[in-house]
Amino acid sequence: MSAPLQYRIVVLNPAAHRYEVTLRIDDPDPAGQRITLPAWIPGSYMIRDFARNIVTIKAESMGRPIALDKCDKQTWQLPPLQGTVDIRYQVYAWDLSVRSAYLDQTRAYFNGSSVFLRVIGRESEQHQVDIAAPQDDELMNWRVATTLPATVVDARGFGQYQVPSYDALIDYPVEISDHSPMQFTAAGIPHQMVISGRHRCDAERLTADLTRICEQHARMYGELPVDRYLFMTMATGDGYGGLEHRDSTSLMCARDDLPRPGMKAPEEGYRRFLGLCSHEYFHLWNVKRIRPERLKQADLSVEIHTQLLWAFEGFTSYYDELALVRAGCIDSLSFLELLAQTITKVLRSTGRHKQTVAESSFDAWTKFYKQDENAPNAIVSYYTKGALVALGLDMQLRDATDDRVTLDDLMRELWQRYGKPDIGVPEDGIERLASELAGTDLSDFFARYVHGTDELPLDDWLASVGVGIQRRPAGDAIDQGKSSKTPPEAVEAKPVLGARWMVENGFARLSHVLDGGAAQAAGLSAGDRLIALDGIQLPADKVAQRIAQLPSGRTFSLHVFRRDELLAVELAPQPAPADTVTLWLLADDQLDSRQQARRSAWLASA
Ligand code: ZN
Repeated sequence: MSAPLQYRIVVLNPAAHRYEVTLRIDDPDPAGQRITLPAWIPGSYMIRDFARNIVTIKAESMGRPIALDKCDKQTWQLPPLQGTVDIRYQVYAWDLSVRSAYLDQTRAYFNGSSVFLRVIGRESEQHQVDIAAPQDDELMNWRVATTLPATVVDARGFGQYQVPSYDALIDYPVEISDHSPMQFTAAGIPHQMVISGRHRCDAERLTADLTRICEQHARMYGELPVDRYLFMTMATGDGYGGLEHRDSTSLMCARDDLPRPGMKAPEEGYRRFLGLCSHEYFHLWNVKRIRPERLKQADLSVEIHTQLLWAFEGFTSYYDELALVRAGCIDSLSFLELLAQTITKVLRSTGRHKQTVAESSFDAWTKFYKQDENAPNAIVSYYTKGALVALGLDMQLRDATDDRVTLDDLMRELWQRYGKPDIGVPEDGIERLASELAGTDLSDFFARYVHGTDELPLDDWLASVGVGIQRRPAGDAIDQGKSSKTPPEAVEAKPVLGARWMVENGFARLSHVLDGGAAQAAGLSAGDRLIALDGIQLPADKVAQRIAQLPSGRTFSLHVFRRDELLAVELAPQPAPADTVTLWLLADDQLDSRQQARRSAWLASA
């Protein structure tokens, strides 16, 4: 039995964004030990080549330098040798995202997948990490926040940690800064929220809301399989994002999204932040423990393909917002607004007619994570459409069983059969389980909406829970979908360009030209800068309004710059598509008793 693999990580130079890591290996592979760094981090399906941030690397044994051969972009090999070898390397850390590593004089943050080399063949051994306290006087207030299991640490959390495998080692992000942890208990389990970055958050409000959300998820699954849980948040001017782990999550948010003292109903930004916390917490079950077979012990050196992200991200997206209303953090109208925004996002992408959510999952690496100007025309999001498939499956299960079985039951059963015993979910596992729980064959549902591109029958699904839906043209540029207390009025479809743009020096530069729209018919392309319409200069803030006023039935000259060449095209106005929705609660007297009961059950706490 060899000694644990030992890592020591030191804040080498905050100004140069540089960590130094020493990896000590006892009894390396006599044939020539190989070491490697992952190309991607679980939960974020893109090749990121973390090894490109290794600035210097060298090996030493018994005080003598040892040659280290580089085998590929992320792997090194030692010569055959006996005894103990130290690999010492510097890692450049200047990525503010939740997926990699960061270091400056305000904060240190890292994921193990960015800083800890994997010792090939010894992944299942004990891995020990020594997090060294920085010696600079200015960093004396820094504290460690992580759920890495500690063995010997000081009051600030510096010292030794140990985990039983490499997979575990890279599932505990570490946040080190001058933060003040907020403590709360949910479902009897200690929870913590730490926020780095400047902010003025109402801690009492945030922890009260998080308690309700965490308890809602735990109640639905019937148990909370962690000893503790840590939310790590980096607040910036405009950040947004999160990454799930088994008993923690790393989040980015805009500081204005955090609750201010005195805030009443959650404002839009705070609701978004609660939704993000809810999403990552739900992942503690769905994707971290209930896992696709193909992602279990995945090879992190190459892409791994699964068709199931529509369930693992889509179902999570369905429940992250549903839990907010079920937990009582938002009211049902606010929840319907979130759902209306999800539906609107899906309707605004004609890619839904071309790509299925199963394909979108499979190709996440090269399409969803690498979106370009053609994305709305070519791809569908397994998050947003996946959330609507979850809604549909929820209704399908209720329909098939006289409302005895819901999607909640499917999640609980997935937890019992796959998550709890740690068995990977096969690619057809969720579909088979859904049919089994429904007591009837649901393969037609999956063929149409998961493996096919049939338009989702949202009117029927929503009507069955007493919700009305209106498809209409967008009211203005910021209209992303709404909810309404009463049935909405009809909206007139005015002409639109059929493109999206950004403002550049006061003029519109097209970012996306949408399939079937007027811009595409006129021959416009992404990158074109609009100059003049009908012979009159066209500044960015007038584009929507001027086009909306064009009479139909004739064409208008439009001048644009493509790169540095002036082009004149003929634009034929086209009415705005009905790609935006309003949702409302149908009046009780319009509902039969079954709809009423289903709506109450749907929105009620687990
Ligand atoms: Zn997610």
